[in-house]
Amino acid sequence: MDWNRLAEILFPHITKTPEDILAQYPARALPEGAKVTRMGPSPTGFMHLGNLYGALVDERLAHQSGGVFYLRIEDTDKKREVAGGVQTIIDAFTSFGLPFDEGATLAGDKGVYGPYRQSQRAEIYQTFVKSLVQRGLAYPCFATEEDLAAMRAQQEAAKENFGYYGKYAVWRDRPMEDIEAELAKGTPYVVRFRSEGSIERKLRHDDLVKGKMEVTENDQDVVILKSDGIPTYHFAHVVDDHLMGTTVVVRGEEWLATLPVHLQLFHAMGWKPPKYAHTAQLMKIDEETGSKRKLSKRKDPELALTFYKQQGYPAPSVLEYLMTLLNSNFEEWRRANPDKPMQDFPFSTKKMSGSGALFDIDKLKDVSKNVISHMTAEAVYDAVAAWSAENDPAFHALFTRDPAYSQAILAIGRGGRKPRKDLALWSDVKPYMDFMFDELFAPDYTLPAHVSAADAKAILTAFDAQFDPNDTPDGFFEKMKAIASAHGFAAETKAYKQNPDAYKGHVGDVSMVVRIAVTGRQNAPDMQTVMSILGADRVHDRLNRCIAAI
Ligand code: GLU
Repeated sequence: MDWNRLAEILFPHITKTPEDILAQYPARALPEGAKVTRMGPSPTGFMHLGNLYGALVDERLAHQSGGVFYLRIEDTDKKREVAGGVQTIIDAFTSFGLPFDEGATLAGDKGVYGPYRQSQRAEIYQTFVKSLVQRGLAYPCFATEEDLAAMRAQQEAAKENFGYYGKYAVWRDRPMEDIEAELAKGTPYVVRFRSEGSIERKLRHDDLVKGKMEVTENDQDVVILKSDGIPTYHFAHVVDDHLMGTTVVVRGEEWLATLPVHLQLFHAMGWKPPKYAHTAQLMKIDEETGSKRKLSKRKDPELALTFYKQQGYPAPSVLEYLMTLLNSNFEEWRRANPDKPMQDFPFSTKKMSGSGALFDIDKLKDVSKNVISHMTAEAVYDAVAAWSAENDPAFHALFTRDPAYSQAILAIGRGGRKPRKDLALWSDVKPYMDFMFDELFAPDYTLPAHVSAADAKAILTAFDAQFDPNDTPDGFFEKMKAIASAHGFAAETKAYKQNPDAYKGHVGDVSMVVRIAVTGRQNAPDMQTVMSILGADRVHDRLNRCIAAI
């Protein structure tokens, strides 16, 4: 077979050589040990939690080592592509604050290892395919869908392995005349890689996540170039990750099955493969069956990254939660370092579990409460203002009417060693502080069962006469004690517990009555601070409104 001639017939338009291309991609000048990682999403319009999970691994590995984290758009499958898909990808990662150093941006490419969209790299792939043909390592295959279906039926009947290999690889050793006859007819064809692998042999692989393993060699002549001249994932992965200098490929474990193909292709090209980190599937406990299953696009809205933004999960909370799934020692580190940025945690692929990570939204909320509790009131204010502008315009208008007022409310119980943990989502802010806005104040004046309306009125009247917005929280509590004593309630809870029959209740009931009157509910942040923010007039109005209503 005249392979050079075949290569010219198939790729007359390719005039560059692999050396020409390689010369455009010099080795990266990075410090020793620096890792180069990438995200390779397809613009399908759907970004899921698994993408973010992988991206966090990529980002940490790169930035922790002084390396590079880049974005490559894997748009070789035009059938799955949607309009605006690239924007969705970039928006998703930008909103989660995972900065790409390099790669595709909406304004074009950033970096010199591009183009970063696979659809713009056809000439590059074809140059390498042409050279494989010249070396007798790749060939055109004109098998039709029907031919392949018939082959499959034959394999099924003979109980043989499926696929295009051995005697089933019917175009592998066809004479030039047959190929030329098909080309003359204009029959569409793909280009396949000629495998010398055998399923009798094993390859050793040392995965950064899954550890050491043996995988069976690939004996299939896989398609490397589709009939439209665009490569398959397998070939694009090998060419791009080599040229772009990727040192660690982080990808879902579903790619482990075709790893032998990739290793074989790297070998054929004479290139050193990158290291691989195959990440485990995200699982959840099914609410109905109680058993573990993969997160599903159809059943689980929380799989979509857009879910978190819409619901108002702070981006750092989601990242921090994913880190607890990624590294089992992260939570312990966080307890010891409550105020450090997550980036200070020494992330390691060695601590990643090779089996499925269990996603638990309640755990995410707990992590989020902790994250928000360590933010400043100003930061919470900014995030809630941004979130509500998009998702709750009516609340946004009230919340941003007087920023200092909203920030003062958010500042209650913040800072210090044991900050309040009321908020898990930005959408929690409205129910948390709605009573602070007269427009939203919808009081529930249900009193504790053992406090009569008459006593409550007396307590409120007494307090109305004494309230001072400049009191300290302790000063307020002293007033509560005095009012308690004057109305037959114990000033100390302890005294009440020792002798409950001697009192109508205790000081806690008295302050509860005030809380119900002022906030319209039984749970609220520190009362004195709340009342000084509301101001004397509104406190007076609210006390009297309650007195009139009960
Ligand atoms: N385009 C591939 C995907 O979306 C990327 C896999 C990889 O990172 O290599 O699954």
